[in-house]
Amino acid sequence: MSLAVFERISQIHSWVISQRDQGHTIGFVPTMGALHAGHQSLIELATGHCDRVVASVFVNPTQFNNAEDLKKYPRTLEADLALLEKSGCHAVFCPSIDEMYEPGEETQRWDFGALSNSLEGEFRPGHFDGVLTIVKKLFLAVEPNKAFFGEKDFQQLAIIGRMTREEGFPIEIIAAPTIRESSGLAMSSRNVRLSEEERISAIGISRILLSARATGRADSPEKLLHTATTGLKNERGIHLEYCALVKTSGFEPFAVWPNEPCVLLVAAYVGDVRLIDNVIID
Ligand code: AMP
Repeated sequence: MSLAVFERISQIHSWVISQRDQGHTIGFVPTMGALHAGHQSLIELATGHCDRVVASVFVNPTQFNNAEDLKKYPRTLEADLALLEKSGCHAVFCPSIDEMYEPGEETQRWDFGALSNSLEGEFRPGHFDGVLTIVKKLFLAVEPNKAFFGEKDFQQLAIIGRMTREEGFPIEIIAAPTIRESSGLAMSSRNVRLSEEERISAIGISRILLSARATGRADSPEKLLHTATTGLKNERGIHLEYCALVKTSGFEPFAVWPNEPCVLLVAAYVGDVRLIDNVIID
């Protein structure tokens, strides 16, 4: 089955309905394009779970709180379509901005406490409202059985899970592990904007996070966080925005290791490229 490409909501919606009428389950992988092996792993995971896999490629303007970042976001549709086809994707939805938003439309607002207001929520005001607004629109257009998101964007994954439950979507959210380059650097569409020198600096982020994961709960939470934070602050070429250790459930910080998974998250600038990464401390 070759890749079907749709630009209109009505087209992707009818395609999904015809597939479901034939008894097929639908998996959905939303992306902003500039696809890499991380995205490919989501498509491959989805093909293992569902009979038909739909991807979307849409650079969502409402989730960019920085106009320059939006302008510089890489766009590589031809290569994206080739990668999707090769990975076993069945249909791709690549709408225009006008297809997804009315002129002047405001994003919907969500407040999930620390989950939506801390870290990315604090440093990128309005970002999660933009993400949830577009994911909700895409869920309504595609109506998948399962949707797949990467742990690379851990807070996004958690907040989408929460929105899905609150809005009553009958969609199962499946998390996929972060795919890294052999250097440890988490794959990201923004990595293409790093110079050779910046790429070497950026590797410091994953090196420090992976070392914290290896130490795990052998250190106190305070010591683990302190070691990672000072390491990142001392790393050449990295400008740390935040380094935080929180519970995965509600993104609350803690003083004593809780009886549940925790996550160590980092956002940092390398040159003018903002990178995020995290590791689970189980
Ligand atoms: P994006 O195109 O950056 O919006 O990402 C689309 C989806 O791919 C999101 O669910 C991301 O979390 C996921 N993703 C991005 N990078 C990676 C990675 N390195 N490993 C696994 N998933 C990723």
